[in-house]
Amino acid sequence: MKNLRDLTYEDLVEEVKALGEKPYRAHQLFAWVYKRRAPAIDSMTDISKDLRERLKDAFYIGGVNVLDVMRSADGTRKMLSSLEDGSRIETVLIPEGERLTLCVSSQAGCPLGCRFCMTGQTGFIRNLKLSELSAQVIAAEGEIQKGEKITNIVLMGMGEPLLNYENVLKFLKILVDSRGFGFSHNKITVSTSGIVPAIEKLGKDIDVNLAVSLNASTDEIRARLMPVARKYTLKDLLAALKSYPLPGKKHITFEYVLIKDVNDSIDDARRLARLLRGIKCKINLIPFNPFPGSIFDRPSDDAINAFWEVLKGSHYKVFVRESKGRDIQAACGQLSGLYNGGAPAEGVLPLAPEAG
Ligand code: SAH
Ligand code: SF4
Repeated sequence: MKNLRDLTYEDLVEEVKALGEKPYRAHQLFAWVYKRRAPAIDSMTDISKDLRERLKDAFYIGGVNVLDVMRSADGTRKMLSSLEDGSRIETVLIPEGERLTLCVSSQAGCPLGCRFCMTGQTGFIRNLKLSELSAQVIAAEGEIQKGEKITNIVLMGMGEPLLNYENVLKFLKILVDSRGFGFSHNKITVSTSGIVPAIEKLGKDIDVNLAVSLNASTDEIRARLMPVARKYTLKDLLAALKSYPLPGKKHITFEYVLIKDVNDSIDDARRLARLLRGIKCKINLIPFNPFPGSIFDRPSDDAINAFWEVLKGSHYKVFVRESKGRDIQAACGQLSGLYNGGAPAEGVLPLAPEAG
């Protein structure tokens, strides 16, 4: 049995052909699955009962199973879901004024092991399937209130999206497809820790926003925080970003987690300003969010301001982003796939030991 949400438009064209049905059925099915969010094949009321029965012999529509929704005092909602194999992921809804941003996970866990990130500390299970990516959007829509609408989608939840390239690209294409979810490509952002070859490929494959987690101004500090920096140096990363296509108003967003006494000095800020010269960009400074067992601290407000001022003085668009949802462990870097980011609740599968 195949999950219809694992199929792209092109896949459906092939499946429909194999069933001996007319080509327009692919369009009809695709629209039911993504645009109309059909929960089951029987909801497809303009398809004859006979054909629905035949479809049900080969396909089903599977989602994620939302186990719990936690609500923050600031309006952020974190959904904990289980997948068909029992893996757990988290998806976060973040209201900010007129915007309602959905933060989607791309992997169960993350293999990259960044020292400052809870997801990185809890190990890696597997890549998410296309169906598990789109089901996060559909499940989140089930949690929003009347009058609310998801306006932005960011791949900034658990995992490294560019290590799940194939499924993430299919997902992005369905998000921006007017026959599918129909989001504007300006409202979609992929965040990466800097997988250079995949960044180069993404720029050719699709036009969405790119965010890069830089987090340091030298390879040495970066490698201490992010083991992946040993493989992809700042020089190679910045070269790839300098040739990344940025049509219209698009720019690269740099994320920089500010960690006390690690990467928050005035020298760091000056080096960063020099490093990013010539790149059409915006910088988000994210004061470190602690999690159970973390070994770092958030810098003082004075240190954060001083860092900001250096970049501002160099004419960068720079913002201090206070992550939302900290009281429910839903903020940047706090997603673990477990209740509360703490010890596993009873009956919750422990995550795999740290990989990489
Ligand atoms: N793997 C991708 C996307 C998910 S991480 C990436 O690394 O870009 C999303 C963001 O959260 C990254 O920018 C990361 O630097 C930031 N982050 C991770 N842990 C954090 C923490 N403890 N406090 C604040 N931000 C954190
Ligand atoms: Fe993975 Fe991103 Fe966390 Fe690093 S910051 S461990 S790449 S999710």
